[in-house]
Amino acid sequence: MADHLMHNYAPLPVTFVRGEGPWLWDSDDKRYLDALSGVAVCGLGHAHPAVAEAVAGQARTLVHTSNWYHIAKQEQLAARLTDLAGMDNAFFCNSGAEANETAIKLARLHGRQKQIANPTIVVMDGSFHGRTLATLSATGNPKIQAGFEPLLPGFVHVAYDDVDAIEQLAALRDDIVAVMVEPITGEGGIRIPADDYLPQLRRLCDEQEWLLIVDEIQTGMGRTGRWFAFEHSDIQPDIVTLAKGLGNGVPIGACLARGQAAGLFQPGQHGSTYGGNPLVCAAALAVIDTLEQEQLAARAGWLGQHMLNGLYHNLANTDGVVECRGKGLMLAVELDRPCGELMTRALDKGLLINVTAGNTVRLLPPLILSDEQADQVVSGVSELIQTFLA
Ligand SMILES: *Cc1c(COP(=O)(O)O)cnc(C)c1O
Repeated sequence: MADHLMHNYAPLPVTFVRGEGPWLWDSDDKRYLDALSGVAVCGLGHAHPAVAEAVAGQARTLVHTSNWYHIAKQEQLAARLTDLAGMDNAFFCNSGAEANETAIKLARLHGRQKQIANPTIVVMDGSFHGRTLATLSATGNPKIQAGFEPLLPGFVHVAYDDVDAIEQLAALRDDIVAVMVEPITGEGGIRIPADDYLPQLRRLCDEQEWLLIVDEIQTGMGRTGRWFAFEHSDIQPDIVTLAKGLGNGVPIGACLARGQAAGLFQPGQHGSTYGGNPLVCAAALAVIDTLEQEQLAARAGWLGQHMLNGLYHNLANTDGVVECRGKGLMLAVELDRPCGELMTRALDKGLLINVTAGNTVRLLPPLILSDEQADQVVSGVSELIQTFLA
């Protein structure tokens, strides 16, 4: 049946038919423990009753009207998100890439206001910002850019976690308008920068009148132990992009802006037909209510630390393990060799994990994981890695 799908994915040999919390069942009724959450999307686990209720109720009431009219749920969601993030206003779209496209467009408008003819955004090697042409051009991974040239101009790549490299650019060029950065890289292998990285970027952006764009598409919505990962650094970005965990599987992205960046768009300058319709906003509001009521960001923080301690204890002295690292429920075990086959081996054992950047096992479990399930993930992954390296 897959004959009629384009060949851009290479799915593992399994089809899931239902889920509940951190569990999934395949078409043979085999059960799997999900330590990937649909790539940091289903932070509340599968079939969460609050989200299911919100979606079903809204589907019976009103799904879509377009942005030609006020949408109460969208206005409520904007108020909640901007309040949580310390931002001023929000634009809603359907994916992470579109949220970043919005941020890129805001940065270019900011440049035009400063009379800069070719506004350029500083982006990082090893970053991932999406697959549309602008976000692909911003992404710092030549492998996924290959074949799609010409890429968009207006981006300059520097090493991740290297403020000096950006200082040097600032001295050389007068066309820079913004810095766009993941607070922890996701697809790039869960790289955690120095504690003063974001504060230094904030200082530099203030000095240079650049916008600081923080891509929280993977790190946001409680995953790292705070609502947003930038909060660990006590800074305030000018623009924050969100998607993945925001809708628990219902497609929604958001671009939040503050201060001058919040006043850049005029009517007609940007839009999305589906963006922020009542259905997806009802889902996101239910996600935020649940995260808040169950204090799941805090839970992600200490449960993740507990899992990291476990991985460290089991694997730190294993030959072939380069490093165990993570923040909250964004965890990685980097190996000294490619390990993509661990995904299939884990699947056989009824465990869903991911491998990114070729040699890094990535865990993005749901925030509702019980202590016992967390230990199960840690021992399962440790065993798999030890057997693989033996
Ligand atoms: C997943 C991701 C994106 C792209 O999101 P899509 O919804 O796939 O377009 C962008 N940035 C980061 C950091 C991501 O993890």
